[in-house]
Amino acid sequence: MKAIQITEPRKLEIVEVEKPMLKDSDEVMIKVKAAGICGSDVHIYHGTNPMATYPRIIGHEFTGEVVEVGTSVQNVAIGDKVVVEPILYCGECYACRSGRPNVCEKLEAMGVHVDGGMREFIVVPSAKAHKVSPDLPYEMSVVVEPFTIAAQSTWRGDVKKGETCLIMGAGPIGQAILQYALLKGATCIVSDIDNERLDDAKKLGATHVINPLEVDVVEKARELTGGSGPNVTIDSACTLKTFEQAVEMTSPAGRVVVLGFSVEPSKIAQVHITKKELTIVGSRLQTNKFGEVIGYLNTGALNPEGFVTHKFHFLDAQKAMDLVEDPSIKKNKVIITF
Ligand SMILES: [Zn+2]
Ligand SMILES: [Zn+2]
Repeated sequence: MKAIQITEPRKLEIVEVEKPMLKDSDEVMIKVKAAGICGSDVHIYHGTNPMATYPRIIGHEFTGEVVEVGTSVQNVAIGDKVVVEPILYCGECYACRSGRPNVCEKLEAMGVHVDGGMREFIVVPSAKAHKVSPDLPYEMSVVVEPFTIAAQSTWRGDVKKGETCLIMGAGPIGQAILQYALLKGATCIVSDIDNERLDDAKKLGATHVINPLEVDVVEKARELTGGSGPNVTIDSACTLKTFEQAVEMTSPAGRVVVLGFSVEPSKIAQVHITKKELTIVGSRLQTNKFGEVIGYLNTGALNPEGFVTHKFHFLDAQKAMDLVEDPSIKKNKVIITF
């Protein structure tokens, strides 16, 4: 079978690999149908993801059909349409015992630390396969994983009905967070330096949008919230500056959610945190959010219509990666089909 492998930084190849086999009675084999390209896949391609090793079959946002099940598998059956929860953890460390396996000390993400889902077939423990409605097209089930990031970050930020939530960044993750925060009943403001993306955010339901290239984002956010600042700020732009601005503008008793992986320090003044008793939290991957997101997608409460803007056959993976890297092309989620 074939797989999309980053053999070394800047080198993407379609490689021939052995088709996997079930080794345990609780495993399932999935015929992969679609996989999303994520910013972190691009970082692996560039050689700038410190957690990735090479060669690596990428892909952690993927969906497909169950084609084989081990003898003890209960939760899914042959023919089921599933999405895969792409993280493996020890179950024993402090984080795992605290119900936070997404930050397990020995965490392995498929497509990063171990081979991922951009291949024709994959075998995973059945607990990682989550069944979705057979009516949900693969173009929609492929976005479950990015939406779990939104579920996690709005949960970490404790976004509540009636609150104001400012989302920094209107890319695919920012848009998913916007939809999720709206679902939780928050009034949403979105900032981004790209006016087209801001238009998309407005269409999705953002009450106000801010372009930091045109106005001072901190001042504007205060002005739009009657002087107090947003109650929750979720930074999916992940620059040194946006983190500083988030801490500065969030309201007293508010929360700041950090999604970035930068190793460079931001300049954060203690006074903002203490004076306002801010809660600053990180949000990584997700904990037990697949069921929740699938439920919302199955009922239509979340509707990622138009979320996927480009599709490529897997043999054209290089073209897909080139498109993702081309800043002149307007896009949202780019997916690979198998
Ligand atoms: Zn992703
Ligand atoms: Zn652990």
